[in-house]
Amino acid sequence: MNKKQKHLLIRIIVAAVCFVPLYLLSEGIIPNRLPHWVIWALFLIPYLTVGYDILKKAALGVKNRRPFDECFLMTVATVAAIALGEYGEGVAVMLLYQVGELFQSIAVGKSRKNISELMDIRPDYANVEAEDGTLERVDPDEVEIGTVIVIEPGEKVPIDGVVIEGASALNTAALTGESKPREVGTDDTVLSGSINLSGVLKVKTTAAFEESTASKILELVENAASRKAKSEHFVAKFARVYTPIVCGTALALAVLPPLFILITKIGMPEGITFWQILRDWVLRACTFLVISCPCAVVISVPLSFFAGLGGAGSRGILIKGANYLETLAEVKTVAFDKTGTITKGSFAVTAVHHSIIDNEALLALAAHAECRSSHPISQSLTKAYGKPIDPTRVSDIREISGHGIMATVDGKAVAVGNERLMNRLGIPALHCHHVGTILHIAIDGVYAGHIVIADEVKEHAKEAIAALKKAGVRRTVMLTGDVEAVAKQVAEEIGIDEYRAELLPQEKVACVETLIGENAGKKRLAFVGDGINDAPVLARADLGIAMGALGSDAAIEAADVVLMDDDPNKIAKAIRIAKKCMRIVKENIGFALIVKAVCLLLGALGLANMWIAIIADVGVMILAVLNAVRCLFVKHL
Ligand code: ADP
Ligand code: MG
Repeated sequence: MNKKQKHLLIRIIVAAVCFVPLYLLSEGIIPNRLPHWVIWALFLIPYLTVGYDILKKAALGVKNRRPFDECFLMTVATVAAIALGEYGEGVAVMLLYQVGELFQSIAVGKSRKNISELMDIRPDYANVEAEDGTLERVDPDEVEIGTVIVIEPGEKVPIDGVVIEGASALNTAALTGESKPREVGTDDTVLSGSINLSGVLKVKTTAAFEESTASKILELVENAASRKAKSEHFVAKFARVYTPIVCGTALALAVLPPLFILITKIGMPEGITFWQILRDWVLRACTFLVISCPCAVVISVPLSFFAGLGGAGSRGILIKGANYLETLAEVKTVAFDKTGTITKGSFAVTAVHHSIIDNEALLALAAHAECRSSHPISQSLTKAYGKPIDPTRVSDIREISGHGIMATVDGKAVAVGNERLMNRLGIPALHCHHVGTILHIAIDGVYAGHIVIADEVKEHAKEAIAALKKAGVRRTVMLTGDVEAVAKQVAEEIGIDEYRAELLPQEKVACVETLIGENAGKKRLAFVGDGINDAPVLARADLGIAMGALGSDAAIEAADVVLMDDDPNKIAKAIRIAKKCMRIVKENIGFALIVKAVCLLLGALGLANMWIAIIADVGVMILAVLNAVRCLFVKHL
């Protein structure tokens, strides 16, 4: 409980302690001869103690010309009840209403905490090795980039870094939702938030604490809660229309029936005055007001989204806001980037053709030209080259998105890229008959041969496409900058419906726009990419999903949903979680409205009093909150 909640709890207890004896006095259960006004004055003590902030909010609402909210309903109902001499009821309603408020505030706080706890990744300390070899525990915040830290078995990796000594298995479940441990050894990167399972690791940090994966993820999760879904806006809008209608109805209920009775004399028993009848109907109107208070809906909707975000997070799916959860549930078309998303993005060199120099030398030139790029092709090429890169040999590197690289290597102008790059440079390229991604190379404007590289489809890609279909996705499309032959082969292999090949990054945006245009109504398009040169597409799609994004800042920033590892099965999983969450939201709204409608009817007929009304309200709220919390548990999905 935070300070505000404790404060409210104390107020509730104090008010309740005052209220009980007063109620017994006023009902004559404890005999007394106090005059009426004394009892009235005494009742004001618990009433104001527990309800002053509600009265203040209602007054502020009126002042700001936004009077119709629950505070207003509560104020009108309780003030009217007290004015009519029903002190007990008036105070009790306010008291119970505040109990409900306290309960929801705790539930919201709890589920917020749950989210970070479920993703138990916040590191508490880092062991820094002092010069004499002893270990010192320090706040991870104070560790500078390049410091050597030691992670013992059982400890959390506090900061991102590279292993310089030792080997171990890491549990990355909190980050990726993947329970299989990851083996790491010298030169491997370790990400903060994973847990060291077996060996002692010496790690040289590569980022500051607040730039590390764990901090980034926590920040993202914390911000997610503030992005509101349409349903949440709907609830706010709904309350704005609903409350005035309820107030109007209550007013009519208080005035019209007594007038009718007065005029027609129907149903006016002997010995009862008009004022008594009026009082009766005003009380009914108050009951009606209390019943119509929309707390359950107002609270359970945001809470469900909260819980949904948390449940997804614990499975390694970061959703940046409740609004995206909603879009995710409506996804009918999924477009994919190929390299790094459907394929592993680790190319192997399968052949070198028509080289005008030694094959090895050609590979060396290409690898050097590519040495700075983060594109999967570049990384694979430097890996295939296998020897250390000498950065002094390279200068003037220019990457042309969707084409390739131009650079000066050993004083020669080297161009490495696809046929389009060669066309652009006016260099005739030799056609290759292999199916594969072809890297043409030109040296000083002369065609120098090509390297054929091939990528592998990810293990779960086929399964993932089938799972998407099962989760209600109608259409799957692969967008790639690669050549037609490769695109066709991959699409057929994994069962993707359609593909578009040889697209430049900006053409992918246009393609996504066309696909969005073909979606009528509430159908949404999600684009899944790895964040390398497809950030604009991620941003343009109805929903951008970045995958394998741990460690790639660009992708984390551009996407709406971040899959923390590169398992394509997570896409369908995310959709299913979102659908479950939306279903719970709808259940809650429906349930609350039905109970309200029944209570309203009973209230209007005079069959429910204020006590029943408030107990029904708090009860519905508690059930709705419990239902909302179900969103956290998505184990069977
Ligand atoms: P994808 O859509 O498959 O992710 P990209 O748009 O990243 O592909 O790249 C499309 C094509 O552009 C590649 O298949 C390759 O031929 C060429 N290309 C892009 N970047 C590079 C690079 N760094 N080096 C060589 N070729 C590149
Ligand atoms: Mg790509």
